[in-house]
Amino acid sequence: MPAAAKRDYYEVLGLGRGAGEDELKKAYRRLAIQFHPDRNPGNKEAEERFKELNEAYQVLSDPERRAQYDRFGHAAFQGPQGAGPFGGFDFTQGFEEVFSDIFGDFFGTGRGRTRSRTRRGDDLRYDLEVEFDEAARGAEKVVRFQRLTQCDECHGTRARTGGSAARQCPNCRGTGQVRTQQGFFSISTTCGQCRGEGMVISDPCPKCQGQGRLRKQESLSVKVPPGVDNGSRLKLRGEGEAGYGGGQPGDLYVVIHVKEHELFVRDGNDIMIEVPISFPQAALGTEIDVPTLEGKIKLKIPPGTQASKIFRFKGKGIVDLHGYGRGDQLVKVIVETPAASRRASANCSRSSRSSTAKR
Ligand SMILES: [Zn+2]
Ligand SMILES: [Zn+2]
Repeated sequence: MPAAAKRDYYEVLGLGRGAGEDELKKAYRRLAIQFHPDRNPGNKEAEERFKELNEAYQVLSDPERRAQYDRFGHAAFQGPQGAGPFGGFDFTQGFEEVFSDIFGDFFGTGRGRTRSRTRRGDDLRYDLEVEFDEAARGAEKVVRFQRLTQCDECHGTRARTGGSAARQCPNCRGTGQVRTQQGFFSISTTCGQCRGEGMVISDPCPKCQGQGRLRKQESLSVKVPPGVDNGSRLKLRGEGEAGYGGGQPGDLYVVIHVKEHELFVRDGNDIMIEVPISFPQAALGTEIDVPTLEGKIKLKIPPGTQASKIFRFKGKGIVDLHGYGRGDQLVKVIVETPAASRRASANCSRSSRSSTAKR
């Protein structure tokens, strides 16, 4: 979705800018019930509204993100420069937590009971800039970033080592849900004592404050395969944030940004270079040295070569990322006509380009 089409988060929730935490929760709750996919099976619009709502809530319920949003709008979370090295953030992760926290067992007991105490770690995104040559040949790059890792003190158990271990919550007997009878209705809500986790830790690990995870500076060596292009995404399985309560770690996505080359322009797996030759060289024929990705190659220019003629070096382009051979190098000779070139070289090159296109 283009940024311009994105609705204002406050508008999505039907709130004013000054809305408090309680108001926010209430609005989210009301709208989430209305647009929840379980209540609107097959309704695409409701599904979109639900997603939009969820995204808005995730940002506005987090004081730090909300402050960023208030200052910069949607731009706060877009692009490589958006939020530090990790441009985007994953809206789906953590959703269940937010959701169950508010709803308790609103949508039926099945959901509550199957809610796992373990949770997969979030995926991370890293925007990596590489040189043109590195993209063509492949490279080994070191990326540095922060991520939540399993606490090395309690190994993710969240309890103090040598202290009393986590035990089943006595209030809900490990289900994470408490049922109360109200007239005819039996209402199930999230257990307040364990916050729905079913376990209580009376003696939390002091190093991670019972979180089981710690934020750490990491550096990782990443193999960039030959042939990557702008927007190529490398997935490093398990290199995202550590899971919660022993859950699987998330993945790290490295998004490639290729710098421009001073001579070559890339078009898919082909690369193009423009080489100027003089009018006499074009008229009489000559031999010139042309730079390629692997050093210079001699190119024979036959007598009477027209301006903007394109020569092709087969297989001298970029190796296909998925192993489908290799592109070509296209060499476009720009014939510099004696006087005209000095007079209006810009005009000249434009008209010669359009004449090639016609042919
Ligand atoms: Zn710990
Ligand atoms: Zn409990």
